[in-house]
Amino acid sequence: MIILIDLDGTLVNTASEAFKPMKDGKIDTDPNIILPFNGAIEFVKKLVELGHTPIVVSDSVGKYVNPVVNKYFGVPAISMAYKPNPKVTEEYLLSKGLDLSKREEIIIIGDTWLDIELGRTFGFRTILTQFYKANPSSENQQDGIGKTWNHLKSGPTYVARTFEEVIKILTNPLESLWAAEAIMKGVKTSNAIRLFDASYDGEYKIFRALGRQEDGECDRYGIASTYKEFHREDRSTDNLKKLAECFENYVKSIQAISPGLKWDYFTYVSDKASTTPPNKLKVLFDLIELGLPKDKILAWKDVVDGSIRNRPHYKERRDFIRQNLFVSTEFDLSGRSIIIIDDQFTTGGTAHEVADMLKQRGAKHILFITMFFMTSLVMSRKSCPKCGKPMKIQMRKSDGNKFYSCTPPQYRGTGCGHIENYG
Ligand SMILES: [Zn+2]
Repeated sequence: MIILIDLDGTLVNTASEAFKPMKDGKIDTDPNIILPFNGAIEFVKKLVELGHTPIVVSDSVGKYVNPVVNKYFGVPAISMAYKPNPKVTEEYLLSKGLDLSKREEIIIIGDTWLDIELGRTFGFRTILTQFYKANPSSENQQDGIGKTWNHLKSGPTYVARTFEEVIKILTNPLESLWAAEAIMKGVKTSNAIRLFDASYDGEYKIFRALGRQEDGECDRYGIASTYKEFHREDRSTDNLKKLAECFENYVKSIQAISPGLKWDYFTYVSDKASTTPPNKLKVLFDLIELGLPKDKILAWKDVVDGSIRNRPHYKERRDFIRQNLFVSTEFDLSGRSIIIIDDQFTTGGTAHEVADMLKQRGAKHILFITMFFMTSLVMSRKSCPKCGKPMKIQMRKSDGNKFYSCTPPQYRGTGCGHIENYG
């Protein structure tokens, strides 16, 4: 496999501003003062031993990248890549005679959204590395707009916290997929996207998603089509059963890792009366058996003012939930630990608000799990044949099929309105 690896923050520990003049080529680079992460040198060696072709892809200048890569890793390197713009990387790969349509043969590894978006524009799989810190969303618990959140929001195929985990992913690619994506390929896993983790006085608040509902281009494992189907009247029971099964598998894995965490209730973010298909989430909720009491703890007020879909921002979504959803007074939640299912995680507004509402009623641990995680939109590599502007990939609501769009101003784009079939 061709393995495109980012340099700074992925192989070498150069987050400090002090290295910037070298990376920018303003001063000469002394490779002796650049330190690889523990295990980075062995990791690159191991890739070669396993028969892979590692290539470093960096935005820094050649007079920094080349001496550092030569000293520690001894593999080819692309410098001034201008990620996530694919042009420089594409030209390099084509000059080596590589077939970019063989998407499974190439993978991108890096620690930022730039690496992940570069991968997505090609349709390659991506591994987001988090070698600096253990908790992806700890930087900004208030609004979910922390830097690491952006990296996760771009929708990596995988996330790895150590070099060993990267090797494990490369060796077992299907078994490393997110649970809901794996089960659509016939594989059972209990991997979830770690969207938020917090612990207050030993009480946990944990948010997870089981698959990516990608906006724009993606590797072939994203399940936007499953998400779209979930909203259709004619959705298949077979897929609902698969979603139920991977949800059960994930919760069982949590119970296996943390037997001390005892759960008391399983509930769902209630469907509104106007939801189509009717009982959209409840039908899935009913299929899931966790061996816990299943109750409708959350309900909408009789008159719901508008829809959350028209509120793209975190704060607006939280306000909407607070004003319109309530916790039933039928239940004594004091000291109770609750698992909640919802269909989609976008900004985290619903998860945070629901968790806080349950906490205010005395709840202990909160595990909020969504089936789908909406990733950010990535521009396409394809230019419009009429006006030359980059095109977006969008999905038709009626049938879930994707198409290229040169989005015109009436849909907040700058394009000419040309559309073309995708794939
Ligand atoms: Zn156009």
